[in-house]
Amino acid sequence: MTLISKRKQPGRETHMAREQLRIEEGVFDSRTMMRLSKLFAKGVVSRMRFVIAKGKEADVYLADAGNEIDKEYVALKIFRIENTPFQKRMRYITGDPRFGKIKSDMFSVVNEWCKKEYGNLLVAEAAEIHAPMPYAFNGHILALEFIGEGGTPATPMRHVKLQDPEKVLGIVLEDVRKLYQNELVHADLSEYNILMRDEVPYLIDFGQAVHTKHPESMKFLIRDVENLLHYFSKTYKVEKEFDEVMEYITKEPTAAP
Ligand code: ADP
Ligand code: MN
Repeated sequence: MTLISKRKQPGRETHMAREQLRIEEGVFDSRTMMRLSKLFAKGVVSRMRFVIAKGKEADVYLADAGNEIDKEYVALKIFRIENTPFQKRMRYITGDPRFGKIKSDMFSVVNEWCKKEYGNLLVAEAAEIHAPMPYAFNGHILALEFIGEGGTPATPMRHVKLQDPEKVLGIVLEDVRKLYQNELVHADLSEYNILMRDEVPYLIDFGQAVHTKHPESMKFLIRDVENLLHYFSKTYKVEKEFDEVMEYITKEPTAAP
């Protein structure tokens, strides 16, 4: 171990600049670098901060917003090109009327997936649900609203003890309903894909969400609702009738009686 005197230790700025370089040089391939620099040039991001989460299929970073974004931070979801689960993704693309024939090489599928998550988040925004606003995408990189407090990312519901679980479940179900009424099914809803900020649940991870015309959309909706109800039942003993919830989500919006 080498000891360095306090005086010689690099300052905070130097340290951050090195971290930034390390991220830029060591982790990102040239394709990712090119696309990131486009997002810098477009004023979407101005500085990379740190990794929020590293997943099998995507890594999510915190970045400072660029001058085109009216917020302090931006989340960057960078899909892994080399680890694209091909067949799995095609299941959520084929049959969705929003997609025509797409090229099925690794690069096209991951780009299409990223664009699909962007489009799904636009629907979520139009449906006025709690979900991150999409800002931009470039290839396999998606820039979206950062859900957090200051620079601290919000925690997935799985790792939070809810104060009022019944109320939280109510908000989530209302959002699932609003999404459905806007012809979208999330299709991967779980306690991991809901972030909690001030006891308000935010739905995230919309890559696999499908149009209600997709042949499997009802199957996916049932799975989502089952997952949710099961989690709230086993964790908080909050029970809801499955059939009633399904009716609430899928029935035509009617004026309140
Ligand atoms: P994956 O496909 O890897 O599950 P997610 O979209 O679920 O991708 O993101 C992975 C993790 O990154 C999430 O569990 C969450 O902790 C974090 N994350 C994703 N989007 C945001 C966001 N907009 N703001 C803050 N944290 C986020
Ligand atoms: Mn996820």
